[in-house]
Amino acid sequence: MATTPESPSNTLVILDGSMPSLVAAWRAAASITPGQHTSPDGASPLILFVPAADAPRLADRAPAIATLCNAQLIIDTPVDAYRIPAGGPARADTTLLLLRATLIAMARSAGRIIWPLQTAGIEGLAAATRAFDRTLLIEQLLLMDSPSGVPTIDTPLLDFSDDAIADLAADLGVPFELAAFCRQSPAPACGSCPSCRRWIAAAQKVGANV
Ligand SMILES: [Zn+2]
Repeated sequence: MATTPESPSNTLVILDGSMPSLVAAWRAAASITPGQHTSPDGASPLILFVPAADAPRLADRAPAIATLCNAQLIIDTPVDAYRIPAGGPARADTTLLLLRATLIAMARSAGRIIWPLQTAGIEGLAAATRAFDRTLLIEQLLLMDSPSGVPTIDTPLLDFSDDAIADLAADLGVPFELAAFCRQSPAPACGSCPSCRRWIAAAQKVGANV
């Protein structure tokens, strides 16, 4: 967007517990100048947004992550209005998540949303194109309601390999134990599903103790 004097530079990072989301949070935290506050109450310009679908898995660790990043934490609550009805399109989950994140960003004067999507090596180009289309369409849709500007949705980690994410995490000092590798089971990770195996391998390559 379109930063205005009232809403200069808050950033909202979507925190789903994945390694890319932790890297995105730590990178955003590192880019904040000390003393940079954008609201009269001195709230942090960094907002970590935990989607409703991830809230139960991250209930324990999200507050610790927010403290380490010196960020505001918003843990979304599941409400029927944001659930896909049974039999509805599964991918619409992502659309609703981004809409919700964007509306919350607008309410918190965040001009930038970081969506830590990583598609390299998974679905590749088609997924990247779909993500780009999605962000553009959501921005355009909300511009109809808020002509003065809507946040931009960035996907800075889209092309990063797992190893590159792990390297970056090590450089930034991200505590690997706070990541939620597993999408199926609550923390700690199950250690044996494809997602756990993938991230444990990447973490071990940079010497992280997971
Ligand atoms: Zn697992």
